[in-house]
This record gives sequence, structure tokens and C-alpha cells, in this order.
Amino acid sequence: MPLTPEQQAEIENQRSTTRETLRAVSEGMERHLYTAIPVLDHGFVRVIDYMGDDAAICQAARVSYGKGTKSVSNDEGLIRYLMRHWHSTPFEMCEIKLHVKLPVFVARQWIRHRTANVNEYSARYSILDREFYIPERDALAAQSRTNNQGRGAALEGEEADRVLRILRDDAMRCYDHYEEMIGEDGQQGLARELARMNLPANIYTQWYWKVDLHNLLHFLRLRADAHAQYEIRVYADAICDVVADWVPFAFRAFEDYRMGGATLSATALDCLRRMLKGEAVTQETSGMSKGEWREFEGILNGPAQPGS
Ligand SMILES: Cc1cc2nc3c(=O)[nH]c(=O)nc-3n(C[C@H](O)[C@H](O)[C@H](O)COP(=O)(O)OP(=O)(O)OC[C@H]3O[C@@H](n4cnc5c(N)ncnc54)[C@H](O)[C@@H]3O)c2cc1C
Repeated sequence: MPLTPEQQAEIENQRSTTRETLRAVSEGMERHLYTAIPVLDHGFVRVIDYMGDDAAICQAARVSYGKGTKSVSNDEGLIRYLMRHWHSTPFEMCEIKLHVKLPVFVARQWIRHRTANVNEYSARYSILDREFYIPERDALAAQSRTNNQGRGAALEGEEADRVLRILRDDAMRCYDHYEEMIGEDGQQGLARELARMNLPANIYTQWYWKVDLHNLLHFLRLRADAHAQYEIRVYADAICDVVADWVPFAFRAFEDYRMGGATLSATALDCLRRMLKGEAVTQETSGMSKGEWREFEGILNGPAQPGS
């Protein structure tokens, strides 16, 4: 369970206290404030605070005194224009602060996104909980034969059982030794900052993560993508749902131009123009490498259908 009853009570208490404010408020985001969205087996994402809404993006773009809103359709059109033309600074006027609980190996990927502010739970100061990410059986897969950075077919039968057993046993054994080393009964007790080196990368950590909307969308573009590792993608997907409620115009534009759109090289664009004129372009006549051609065909044919 990601939250203890005490933590749940704290959240309910926070949500029960309301104040009047002159600040811009996003109704969609108010529904998410403080609540925890479960992710993986023990993780979560929850919104701690936020600043701005769709109107704040327009207000900054127009550098206006009022709310920035001219009309709803006008605002959406402006946001789409900004997104289409990479006019990114108005999106930086919105901010979000998240509390995230995630396995350490996911945190290592996440922390590469440098354009955010982070404060992590200290394993020098505190004792980490006995909580490890153990994948669902159907998330266990073999190494991909075509992509060195990916998964292939699902593990089956006895092999899947054995992998799960190893993951559980090793995590428990390491945690037992962690406790044993820091335990003070009849011994000095090893410092927490040293004992933690024995813990595996699937143990959970927590942090507060604050980022502006422009850099958050960049994070989501990379981590909600089908090529991202499943374990970080599920966090990105949960955040996408929050952003869709927070800034619906900006999120729709992001889905359209970034998540659903594609960038074509000059060579690929030339091929497309030749194809539209009726030429049967092949990889050999395209001027593209095999890899580029495969990706180009992927763009033209759309995402693979389930079962294909
Ligand atoms: C599918 C996938 C596979 C990956 N594989 C690997 C891997 O094998 N090994 C590995 O090390 N990493 C890997 N990464 C991490 C990747 O290289 C980036 O570090 C990560 O995605 C963060 O992206 P970013 O630097 O654009 O983001 P941020 O750090 O948030 O930066 C956002 C933007 O700000 C600018 N910026 C930020 N800091 C600087 C700076 N110091 N100098 C100049 N410009 C800056 C850049 O324009 C950058 O795009 C992988 C990422 C993905 C999505």
C-alpha cells in the first residue's frame, strides 16, 4: 500500500481546509491537490502545489494586466500557436510541485532531467522502509533481440517464477542485513549513510520535484513515449493525466504537436514529396540509412496495432 492510514488522514485534513485566494486557480488541478495517485506496487505521484493555468500562459504571451483571456477559442488558438512555433517561455510561467515515491533505479533515470528542483528523502538521516519494487509477472520480459535498450518476449513458466523468487529473496536478505548492521543492540551500529550501500536499486525512495510546465512537457515527451522504460513510463502517464486536467489547452496542443507529431529530416521530407507525386520511393532510392527508413515507415504507417 503506497500510503499509511496516518498519511491518508493528513491528506484528508489538508483537503478539508480551504482558503479564499486572488491567485489563478485551475479547477481541474484543485481536484488533484494532495491526493496520491498509486503507481507500481508501492509508489505514487501527488501534487503538492502548482502555479498558473492555461490563462497564465496567454497572459505571459500577451504580457497583459488582466487574466490574459480574450475568448476561450482565442486562448486555445494562441496556445497551439506557441506550441507549434516552439515559443516556450510562456509555458515556463506555470509550475508544479510533486511528491513522488519511486524505485531508486527509476529515480536514476528521472534525475537526468536537470531543469527541475529536487529534494530527496535522506537515507543518511532516516532509515529506509522495507519496500521494494517487485514487477508484476507479466512485466517480466527477456532482453530484446533488436533493441539493446529494451525488452522482448515475456518470460514464462518456471523461469518467471524463479526470477520473481530471486528478486524477492535478495531484497529481503539485503534489507535484513541493513537492519542488522544499523541495529544498536549490543553493538555500535553502522552509520545509516554506510549501511544503505547494501540495498538494491529496486528499493523505494521519495522526493519533492518542482518543475515548470515547459520542462515538464519535455520530460513527458521523453518518458511517456513508448520507447521509455515501462517503470518510468507509468509515472509519466500518471502525470499526463494530471496535466490534462491542470492546463487542458496546453496539454491538447502538446499531445497534438509533440506526442502525436513527428519531426522529419530534409531527406525524409523530400521522399514524402516524391511519394505524393506518385514515385515509388524505396530505401535504396531514399538516401536514408536502413534504420532511418524503418523509422520513416513507422511514422507513415502509424503505431503498430495490438497483435501486429
Ligand atoms: C529512451 C532514453 C534512453 C536514454 N539512454 C541513456 C543512456 O544510455 N545513457 C545516459 O547517460 N542517458 C540516457 N538517457 C538520458 C538522456 O540522455 C537525457 O539525459 C535525459 O533524457 C534528460 O534530457 P535533457 O537533458 O533534455 O533534460 P533536462 O536536463 O531537463 O534539460 C532540458 C534541456 O535543457 C537544456 N540543458 C539542460 N542542461 C544543460 C546543460 N548543462 N548544457 C546545455 N543545455 C542544457 C537542453 O536543451 C536540454 O534538452 C536516455 C533518455 C531516454 C529518454
